[in-house]
Amino acid sequence: MIIAANWKMNPPLAEAGALAAAYAGATFNGVTRVLFPPAPYLVQMAMRLDGSGILLGGQDCHQAVSGAHTGDVSAAMLASCGAGMVLIGHSERREAHGESDGLVAAKAGTALAEGLSVMICVGETLDQREAGDAEAVVTAQLDGSVPDGISADRLMLAYEPVWAIGTGKVAGVEEISDMHGAIRSWLAGRGLRGVPVLYGGSVKPDNADAIFAVADVDGALVGGASLKAADFDAICAAGTRAAAARG
Ligand code: PEP
Repeated sequence: MIIAANWKMNPPLAEAGALAAAYAGATFNGVTRVLFPPAPYLVQMAMRLDGSGILLGGQDCHQAVSGAHTGDVSAAMLASCGAGMVLIGHSERREAHGESDGLVAAKAGTALAEGLSVMICVGETLDQREAGDAEAVVTAQLDGSVPDGISADRLMLAYEPVWAIGTGKVAGVEEISDMHGAIRSWLAGRGLRGVPVLYGGSVKPDNADAIFAVADVDGALVGGASLKAADFDAICAAGTRAAAARG
């Protein structure tokens, strides 16, 4: 099970150090943890997490290798600050920054060329789900966002229904199971086996066990609940139980 914390534009640096230290102080069998902190914190978080086994990633990168891109961060910069992966195509970036599938694929291609692994996010809006288009939307996002020729061991996917992110609404286990099954079939069709497929969208300590009981769910991308060490730890403990149950 892979459980990833997406801190987004939180918390203040003074709290971030203590939060990372609390993560590092716990261990969870059968669970790989990943932290996506704000980019300016990466170096400090790398020091805090040293020896903990927790992987570090950036929340986004630019598609260019370098150049005149004020305010942006390159994949190489993330790597040089201690990141081994980068989150790409989060719905908050697709929505607020108008990121298209093509741009997501370009960013992923650059990140891979710079030696990073990528976690690519996909997910439908509520309107799209209510129109019965959820699977078609997610499949089209995968077609457009996952670079051709990517190797399975450098890719993770996160299915995050947009309507479930930060809203407290969680997709039902059947909805999650159907979509993860569809994503798994899409991966198989491209010869990508063993790619972890995480669920994201209001994962909390009280729903993690039910979500992780879904066969095709390989972990979670956690936003709000990752800002409290006790909640993140409780979700990771659910990951340990799920890993043990799967043997
Ligand atoms: C996310 O940021 O990817 C996310 C799933 O957020 P939350 O857990 O707060 O819904």
